[in-house]
Amino acid sequence: PLALLKDPTLLKSGGLVDGEWRAGGASFAVHDPATGAELAQVANLGATDAAAAIAAAGRAWPAWRAKTARERGAVLMRWYALMNQHADDLARIMTAEQGKPLAEARGEVGYGASFLEWFAEEGRRVYGETIPTTDGNKRYLVIRQPVGVCAAITPWNFPIAMITRKVAPALAAGCPVVIKPAEQTPLSALALAELAQRAGMPAGVLNVLPADAQNSIAIGDVLCSSDVVRHLSFTGSTEVGRILMRQCASTVKKLSLELGGNAPFIVFDDADLDSAVEGALVSKYRNAGQTCVCANRLYAQAGIYDAFVEKLAARARQIAVGNGFDAGIQLGPLIDAQAMAKVEAHVADALAQGARLVTGGERLGERFYAPTVLADVTPQMRCSKEETFGPVAPVFRFETEAEVIALANDTEFGLASYFYSRDIGRVWRVSEALEYGMVGVNTGLISTAEVPFGGVKQSGLGREGARQGIDDYLETKYVCLGDV
Ligand code: ADP
Repeated sequence: PLALLKDPTLLKSGGLVDGEWRAGGASFAVHDPATGAELAQVANLGATDAAAAIAAAGRAWPAWRAKTARERGAVLMRWYALMNQHADDLARIMTAEQGKPLAEARGEVGYGASFLEWFAEEGRRVYGETIPTTDGNKRYLVIRQPVGVCAAITPWNFPIAMITRKVAPALAAGCPVVIKPAEQTPLSALALAELAQRAGMPAGVLNVLPADAQNSIAIGDVLCSSDVVRHLSFTGSTEVGRILMRQCASTVKKLSLELGGNAPFIVFDDADLDSAVEGALVSKYRNAGQTCVCANRLYAQAGIYDAFVEKLAARARQIAVGNGFDAGIQLGPLIDAQAMAKVEAHVADALAQGARLVTGGERLGERFYAPTVLADVTPQMRCSKEETFGPVAPVFRFETEAEVIALANDTEFGLASYFYSRDIGRVWRVSEALEYGMVGVNTGLISTAEVPFGGVKQSGLGREGARQGIDDYLETKYVCLGDV
């Protein structure tokens, strides 16, 4: 699939440290999840490279922070334009290593690029304030300054957007970054870095350290324990988030964490049922169910339960499953064998505990899983407690609003939630009662660069995107001016 790139020089095999492509001493293989074929060998960088990248970022910091926000924004805007210009190639690279259908990959390239544009603009609005004095001889001022060198550790499910959502606000604020992309999807990150180079990113301001799973741990250790690195942003599993948080304690590093979710998707009796079914489809089966905001638990009220299950299953059966490069494919492969094992275990557990298989429930070949709907699901089942991260829709039955709010909130996670209702009073009540960072009302798609994305409880810390998305990359400084 990569032979068809319009610009083959976007395919990089080295890491980027201090503006130089670095081969490292060893390499690791990147695979196509749809076929298992090896796509490329990429430099397997490690602890020494991480130290070099941190040092380069530290050296680049004074000049980068000294630029005006408008100057930094201009680099981001050139990068943005290049991403759009090379969107087809970026999408191809992404589908090849991540598996999502080409149209979906193209969508992510646009979404990923939008963070560059948004924060190029937002960097110019890092306002301070003056505080009315309580002492005639003094004046109180507040300024906001870049936090310093930032590290970003990113996941495979959004190989581009999870990088730009962190890197754009950091760069806009005046912080250099060191990125450790997911071992499954380094090619997208490196293509992005190549475009940043072409956009005129100064050496050391943006560094990328590809590494396999083992070296990723070593690099993570170096990033977390470095005193030069002042902030770590991570998107990934809650388990790894906890490890990184612990490792960052020694240097009291600022943290932004976007961790696991267990999104409830609630359909009340008064909902527009067809609209709810369409919302459930995109929320559940997008990226083969492998997003942290995918509906994980579907709750349908008793009055519409059977109709909802039937309509959802009918639509799920129409989803075209296959290689993301093939025309019309809507659902690609799962990322790896471990992901497949988890999906199969969740379905087997639900069926063993009395759930009813409405559709799917089987592998389609080695790497694909059929869009699945399970009915008569109960809170004891694993799919109720854990994120399945696959194309399985377990549908629970509920009677009352109070009951479903209690069920929805009965989890340590609190990222995205969704519900469908046409009762305006209920819309307010339920929006306020859901213990989640994000609520989609009568929609299954909520992400865009302009809004604050993030979770409560064990789903994480901080917000990405929006006006708030730059806050984590800034320190607040109070200046007291005496002798006035
Ligand atoms: P997923 O379950 O989505 O693969 P992970 O949390 O395992 O998510 O991985 C997300 C990112 O975290 C990847 O870039 C991975 O390499 C990295 N990672 C995993 N474990 C560690 C660790 N102990 N230290 C640093 N990075 C890690």
